[in-house]
Amino acid sequence: MIPPLMPTYNRADLAFERGEGAWLITDDGRRFLDFGAGIATSSLGHNHPHLVAAIAAQAAKVMHTSNLYRVPEAEKLARRFTEATFADSVFFCNSGAEANEGLVKMIRKAMAEEGHPERYRVICFEGAFHGRTLAMLSATGNEKYLKGFGPPVQGFDHVPFNNLNAVRAAIGPETAGILVEPVQGEGGIRPASLEFLRDLRATCDEFGLVLGMDEVQCGMGRTGKLFAHEWAGVTPDVMSAAKGIAGGFPMGAILATERVASHMTAGTHGSTFGGNPLASAAANAVLDVMLAPGFLAEVDRTGRKLHRDLEGLVAEFPSVFSEVRGAGLILGLRCVVPQGEVASACLAEGLLAVNAGENVLRLVPPLIVREPECDEAVAMLRRAARRCLPVTPKVAAK
Ligand SMILES: *Cc1c(COP(=O)(O)O)cnc(C)c1O
Repeated sequence: MIPPLMPTYNRADLAFERGEGAWLITDDGRRFLDFGAGIATSSLGHNHPHLVAAIAAQAAKVMHTSNLYRVPEAEKLARRFTEATFADSVFFCNSGAEANEGLVKMIRKAMAEEGHPERYRVICFEGAFHGRTLAMLSATGNEKYLKGFGPPVQGFDHVPFNNLNAVRAAIGPETAGILVEPVQGEGGIRPASLEFLRDLRATCDEFGLVLGMDEVQCGMGRTGKLFAHEWAGVTPDVMSAAKGIAGGFPMGAILATERVASHMTAGTHGSTFGGNPLASAAANAVLDVMLAPGFLAEVDRTGRKLHRDLEGLVAEFPSVFSEVRGAGLILGLRCVVPQGEVASACLAEGLLAVNAGENVLRLVPPLIVREPECDEAVAMLRRAARRCLPVTPKVAAK
């Protein structure tokens, strides 16, 4: 019989009652070091006092009023994002998929308003993940997710990642823009080369296209900068954010330049919950922490140290791990043995991690982790790797 909670996920048989920083604790008192952070979402870890206080204070005042009225918390949040990024204007919503839907609408709208309604297609990349709504399934382009859901939504072309020639070859008279993850998350922690991001910017400028970036996973401090594209020294025209933006409270955002945002006039887009007082208060609290002097530099420092230690693990267990990928605290260990085996072994050692594409184990801890917790995670990974060592024929023969 079908369970009341629809079984769309293969869930581990674990339920957490509470969390403290980078740790999650089950109701029977087992402690797990959370290097999954709810899929790169619990950016400040669990039970962060500043975030908890901000949510509690706002909940006691007013949670929701709708966008029929001004929302001062959202106005403040939008102002802070425009001050901290390339963006001139921000739209708030509730998830990554919803942000990407709006982003694609904005790309199409900009073209239509600039006199090119025939330009509506968006170039996306193999290995991408943009969400589970009908249009974002097509933007993602993964057959596995599309199967059974009818004809794909029109308007998305896929080319190999990090391949500028393929991008240029795919540009046609109907192309409106490009949508790229600076670091592919679900795809297996595959970073775009900084040169590729710069080339995409130049290509968009050359052809008058809109450059969209999906920073739902790699943004909000993950790489040690507020947004991952900052490493490349170029900016998108429109960008989505979500996951870590409100520390686990559901929220998404579309950040846009004036070129793109100026066409989004009253009535062109909407979201009932989007940027409500409670969500905005949570996101403002997250920004208080992330924009405090030294926070992002510490993410960078901690990430570099963890990266080095993971390289050590790869050298130590070449029959289990083959490669470390990523930047800051969005790291991946490419596995030689099936990644699921490594994830199970990690769980047995008390470490939570997340699977990703290309047989990669994703390590995306809360951004508040420090060296001692990373050392502990590496020790757990080492013990997990020992559990996964393939049995050599020699040993088997004994
Ligand atoms: C998770 C994710 C999404 C989808 O976000 P949801 O909040 O699950 O809708 C979109 N893009 C990227 C890069 C993601 O990692």
